[in-house]
Amino acid sequence: MKTAIQLTGILKSYPGSAQRAIDNMSLSVEAGEIVTLLGPSGCGKTTTLRVIAGFERPDGGQVRLGDRTVAADGVWVPAERRGVGMVFQEHALFPHLNVARNVGFNLKGAGLALRVAEMLDLVGLADMGSRMPHELSGGQQQRVALARALAHDPVVVLLDEPFSSLDADLRVQMRVEVRRILKEAGATAVLVSHDQRDALAISDTIVVMRDGRIEQVGSPRSVYQYPRSRFVAEFVGTSNVMNGTVSKDGTGVETPIGTLPLVGARGMGSGRDILVSIRPDSLELDDGGDLEGTVISSVYAGSSTDVMLRVESAEGPIELHAHAHPERVLEIGDVVRAHVLPDFVAVIEE
Ligand code: ADP
Ligand code: MG
Repeated sequence: MKTAIQLTGILKSYPGSAQRAIDNMSLSVEAGEIVTLLGPSGCGKTTTLRVIAGFERPDGGQVRLGDRTVAADGVWVPAERRGVGMVFQEHALFPHLNVARNVGFNLKGAGLALRVAEMLDLVGLADMGSRMPHELSGGQQQRVALARALAHDPVVVLLDEPFSSLDADLRVQMRVEVRRILKEAGATAVLVSHDQRDALAISDTIVVMRDGRIEQVGSPRSVYQYPRSRFVAEFVGTSNVMNGTVSKDGTGVETPIGTLPLVGARGMGSGRDILVSIRPDSLELDDGGDLEGTVISSVYAGSSTDVMLRVESAEGPIELHAHAHPERVLEIGDVVRAHVLPDFVAVIEE
């Protein structure tokens, strides 16, 4: 695979701030890959995009795009010569230009009309070229912004919170659409999001960031299923994180709620202190279960009923998130039983 973006040891501080916005970040993105920088507000996602784009000059480290070094000690290629396409949160279309002219903006040459038509077709707006931006829905505006970025055949497309101005239904639909469009265009893309559902749905690779550093890099499945820190377990989805000790024979983990069989713990030294992450989906309500809990909250979420149980543990009462079947009606104060399914139980070595 060809490397499209290579960040090495990037450092970036803003004047007047004691903490670095990016603190020694190294990352490589393969050509054609969709990568999402995921993390809470202020963790350095936008700054990372701006460093890649050339809107910020790093204090240290190197940026390579394809075969070119675009930022390093003594090297600086300005944004307009990096061949990067940008899609911003607010889509930022030119309001006085119609859709076709927005897409064709800054494109020149005889092939322009054809290229614009090709791009509109790609984003599913083939017959909307003469519309004005204000005549489009939020999702359509986003498609235009993406078509405009892709029209230049950029070496990489950068998208900053592309879904944040869309309402919930459209957001779900656009995750799928944007992924399809980027894949069909064969584009390399780096997205920024603070929403784990965006990241899980659209990405080939998720980069979880915290305080200007990378916490974990992996496929959506691996980041969700095998979080390597409490932070990742709790930020990417919901999780019940508790202390555990690898059992004597090394096939399970002793926790305050009992010994859990654990595939992931095999081969780990017995007696080791670790953390265990149990996803709510892995706590199954079951009348024969060995855990007993009292419902302290119950929220109907359509595809599940999200409950919080208070469970007596060896370390006193603890609260656990569980997902019950949506048809199950649970009232506060109900006493239920549950058991832990081994799926989605992960060992965290911190
Ligand atoms: P994110 O996109 O993850 O929310 P940012 O990259 O925007 O985070 O910000 C990272 C950190 O840098 C934050 O602490 C933020 O306050 C600070 N920061 C961002 N832009 C500037 C700026 N132009 N001047 C000073 N500080 C900034
Ligand atoms: Mg941001």
